[in-house]
Amino acid sequence: MYPRVVINKKKLYENSKVVVDMASKQDINVYAVTKVYCGIKELAEESIRAGVVGIADSRVENLIQMKDLDVPKMLLRLPMGCEADQVVKYADVSLNSELSTMRSLNEAAESIDKKHGIILMIDLGDLREGILPEHVDEIVPEILKLQNLVLEGIGVNLTCYGGVIPNPVNLGELSLISSDIETKYGIALKVVSGGNSSSLYLLEKGDMPERINQLRVGEAIVLGRETAYGDPIPGTHDDVFVLEAKIIELKEKASIPRGEIGMDAFGNKPTFEDKGQMKRAIVAIGRQDVEPSGLMPFDDKIEIIGASSDHMILDMTHVNAGYSVGDVVKFRMDYGAMLRLFTSHYVDKVTE
Ligand SMILES: *Cc1c(COP(=O)(O)O)cnc(C)c1O
Repeated sequence: MYPRVVINKKKLYENSKVVVDMASKQDINVYAVTKVYCGIKELAEESIRAGVVGIADSRVENLIQMKDLDVPKMLLRLPMGCEADQVVKYADVSLNSELSTMRSLNEAAESIDKKHGIILMIDLGDLREGILPEHVDEIVPEILKLQNLVLEGIGVNLTCYGGVIPNPVNLGELSLISSDIETKYGIALKVVSGGNSSSLYLLEKGDMPERINQLRVGEAIVLGRETAYGDPIPGTHDDVFVLEAKIIELKEKASIPRGEIGMDAFGNKPTFEDKGQMKRAIVAIGRQDVEPSGLMPFDDKIEIIGASSDHMILDMTHVNAGYSVGDVVKFRMDYGAMLRLFTSHYVDKVTE
């Protein structure tokens, strides 16, 4: 069935291995983040084979899909109180910042006689999740009172909302907070979780503060690049995931529409550049499945010129290869495109 995403499992394994090796040289554990591919178990298994210590996802539904994998599981998105029962059942540890939610988790864990791990998130400037550093001493003693929760450590998430880049200063602050908590409350924190794929560049520079011992890595594994500066990671592949779409029309047409121009399918008034007659192809995929600007054709002579809900239009004028109706066009994808492709049930996913 087309369109489809073809996933090369061997390349996924190799990418995972490169990231695990980079991190383990500096005694850092890697959790593989599986949310971008909706927690497909068979794919998570490749990262596990490569040596990640656990898997992490933002949705409980995805963790349920992977429940039989014999590694610790982490819920990345702050839990909703109403899903506490599911969270303690399917996740060993979750990221948290709200005491009321942690109280719900504690009750849920107690009711099934389980201990649930907590990583307390600290906001170091990116302005997504986390308590502010000045509130650590209000919340930690309260968490320690909850008998069925184990405060495993603290963590930070950067470069997600605010685009703040991890560095020795903000991650150093996280390290200091962890030592302060240990001294003040006489406990040992097992985990200091220093972020996502944007923290990897610090490993290569040798600038990772010593206390950081865990990273939660998604994009670097699936797309082979770090995300602080967008650089490829040597030894990884950027084509683990390939989109294949079929040509359903291929014709010579003008580059400018004929008639009065009103609005396009999304309420925008389109503008056009006159490039004369063009060879244009329509492929059977659209905005319902993907964000077209996040796709890169393998054949660099092909240019994506637009898309409506179910049709994507390509300029094939300068293409040398002889395409016909029914042929497949292949694309690389960025993170946003991949997220949408995996969520669309119109797009088949196959492994090779
Ligand atoms: C998505 C997510 C990650 C992984 O981010 P990547 O940039 O894909 O490595 C890590 N931590 C949290 C909390 C996340 O939501």
